[in-house]
Amino acid sequence: MASNKQCFDKILISACFLGERVRYNGEVKALASQLLSQWQSQGRLISVCPEVISGLPVPRPPAEINPKTLQVITIDSVDVSQQFSQGAQQALRLCQQHNIRFALLKESSPSCGSNTIYDGSFSQQKIVGEGITTKLLRQHGIQVFSEFYLKQLQGLLDQ
Ligand code: SF4
Repeated sequence: MASNKQCFDKILISACFLGERVRYNGEVKALASQLLSQWQSQGRLISVCPEVISGLPVPRPPAEINPKTLQVITIDSVDVSQQFSQGAQQALRLCQQHNIRFALLKESSPSCGSNTIYDGSFSQQKIVGEGITTKLLRQHGIQVFSEFYLKQLQGLLDQ
């Protein structure tokens, strides 16, 4: 009897991992991984760049979260908190549309970081923390993993 195999868990993924030109500096830097290729061929991946989807350009000035005020500020001192928040909301909407329970997002990004972020001083120092999109997704029960936890994510997916 034919079975419907289209009910794989989908994964929201940072668009930069798929080699899309969305990074703040315009560089293309895909994540090379066998698991990622497998998930892609299974049709699991839903790609998003929260910053670009909010209307920010490529390239754009780097931004970091001020740990005291929680505002997102560019290196030129422009407050882009609203754009980051809009991008997070759109990423959440995508998850809701696709019944997504898992996300694979780029570590240390002010949108996508899940364990660490930069400390707001633009001096390459990292602190424990999470990006704006990660925080919102977690508040809605979505489990967020970084590129360093691919195997752990694989262990949770339906096969
Ligand atoms: S916001 Fe996320 S998806 Fe977009 S470039 Fe930064 S890390 Fe990648």
